[in-house]
Amino acid sequence: MAIPPSSAPFVPALLVIDMQHDFVHGSLAVPGAPQIIDVVNKLLSFPFASKIGTKDFHPSNHISFAATHRKPEFSKITIYPPGGTEGERALEQVLWPVHCVASTPGSEFVHGFNHEALDIVVHKGTHPDIESYSAFRDPWHLSNTELPDLLQARGVTDVFIAGLAGDYCVKCSAIDSVLFGYKTWVIQDAIRSVSDTGSEWEVMEKEGILELDSIQTGEMLRNYSIEK
Ligand SMILES: [Zn+2]
Repeated sequence: MAIPPSSAPFVPALLVIDMQHDFVHGSLAVPGAPQIIDVVNKLLSFPFASKIGTKDFHPSNHISFAATHRKPEFSKITIYPPGGTEGERALEQVLWPVHCVASTPGSEFVHGFNHEALDIVVHKGTHPDIESYSAFRDPWHLSNTELPDLLQARGVTDVFIAGLAGDYCVKCSAIDSVLFGYKTWVIQDAIRSVSDTGSEWEVMEKEGILELDSIQTGEMLRNYSIEK
């Protein structure tokens, strides 16, 4: 792992994805998720230039819910952009149990997560007909959340990502972070995934995403705080 030389600009942002009740203890609990709460809290104590949280925040009839389509949970359908025609920009969509419905207890940050240390919270998946795993934008790039403008306005160079779930919202956010031009790091011991195949790590590595752990992150941030 390379520690940036002091001459290089280094403005690190921490992006904490979806540390919400439903993804830790609720309807779509990610295996091992309770174990990362303390790790993420430790990351939030480091001197990042920005500390940004996200919330999956769906209407009750969201397109990603199995109940919306009256189909079995974890089955798959093909989705299109709103108004899109058959076959055009088709995407496979997993149908999830109802989760993180806006302003319900399941959408709240999980108990024990120090969300008060966040500067700002970005909401995603708020449109009934559009899934949005990425914290940056929807999968068809129809519209951005406020995150891209926020990172640019704050002069961020490096995005460090933690949270849930590694194989969905973390992976898609990390890929978009690279596409938006940021040096992107995933903090492995602060991430848990729905599936245990581990294939998401290979995918992210191929996309140019860098991997490290929370201790290495602390070392990089310690050097950063000394430089400031
Ligand atoms: Zn969701």
